[in-house]
Amino acid sequence: MLFSELGLRASILDAVQELGYQEPTPIQSEAIPRILEGRDVIGSAQTGTGKTAAFALPILSKLGAHGPGPRCLVLEPTRELAVQTHENFVKYAKFTQLRTGLIYGGVGYGKQRDDLKAGMDVIIATPGRLLDHMGEGAIDLSGVKFLVLDEADRMLDMGFLPDVRRIILKCAKERQTSLFSATIPPAIETLITWAMKDPVTVEIGARRSVAETVKHVLYPVAELQKQPLLLALLDQVHWESAIVFCRTRRDADSVEALLCRNRHKAAVIHSDRSQKEREEALNGFKAGRYEVLVATDIAARGLDIADVSHVINYNVPEHPEDYVHRIGRTGRAQATGDALTLFAAGEAPQVAAIERFIGKKVERVKLPGFNYTYTALFDEAKLGPLSERKTKGVRIGKGYFFGPARRR
Ligand code: AMP
Repeated sequence: MLFSELGLRASILDAVQELGYQEPTPIQSEAIPRILEGRDVIGSAQTGTGKTAAFALPILSKLGAHGPGPRCLVLEPTRELAVQTHENFVKYAKFTQLRTGLIYGGVGYGKQRDDLKAGMDVIIATPGRLLDHMGEGAIDLSGVKFLVLDEADRMLDMGFLPDVRRIILKCAKERQTSLFSATIPPAIETLITWAMKDPVTVEIGARRSVAETVKHVLYPVAELQKQPLLLALLDQVHWESAIVFCRTRRDADSVEALLCRNRHKAAVIHSDRSQKEREEALNGFKAGRYEVLVATDIAARGLDIADVSHVINYNVPEHPEDYVHRIGRTGRAQATGDALTLFAAGEAPQVAAIERFIGKKVERVKLPGFNYTYTALFDEAKLGPLSERKTKGVRIGKGYFFGPARRR
């Protein structure tokens, strides 16, 4: 299938061509014609499948010329996702007169107020800040005929659904609504029934499957050896750029400090860092100034980072959906990648949940030459309470130093 066969406007096709997209991804070939014909669409594709273009291209195509007041609203759970979706809209609308504005928290109100006054056709927003502007009377959503609820399951996780409902109530009743979500828990089903009309579901592959091009493996290790194993992996595995996911902000900070001490160019993003720091880290990683991005899941969810060669889970994700999401970011839009998960004995239940969720066993791998303190981990029958050997604050192998985490 070719982009030119989908029924998109010429100005949009020109942008797609300029971006070098050869052919539509599966979700794009499914969703674009449905949205163009006016249907409400539920997309259950995971991140990295080209889902932003799947809704942005047909909506921009239908918007046509610049008009007064916002006619399309895209709600995103995080600032980073909002920024990224905005960047995509701007690229796709390059050969049109359409204007796209960005509304998110953590920054001043001034520019956003000016943008709103100047008139935007498309608004990409996080719910909280949008409600602030609505409360001030700075924005009228009654002309919003295209509504997109992106990463709806994450908005639910983050407690945004009441805000989302308040916003939807202010949009035009006669509108086209698209909803994207990797999983459809009951609260999202309810939202779908309430906010959408006769939606078609566009499901790309099994909702639970991990990206097919990704090789993923588990590295069993004692909890206290996770840091040395991480460094050893970065030494031995051939990689170009990596995201390391941590469960807590504290772990993320200490892993970043460890990597920096060991001469890796690393940056960290999590919710305790300022918007400016997060942007600097993300842009630096995208530009290649940093080779490793350490992130908590919430901060990194759905970020469009192309060409990540490796995803490393420093902790086994608590929710199986997050595992699928995280490793979905290597292998984005059909590139290949590896996903490595460090797995301590206490995390066995989460591993079992992931394997049930994706319907297969993930290979356990032992790093050759690594000085494992506790090898019984490779025999899961023996997994149980551990008395791990202390490895903190000693040198292991050549040059690795595990001192206390740097104070930030
Ligand atoms: P998304 O799933 O929307 O986050 O998109 C993932 C990445 O794929 C982004 O970097 C897009 O620019 C890229 N992309 C989207 N559609 C295509 C396509 N048809 N061909 C190649 N790359 C694409």
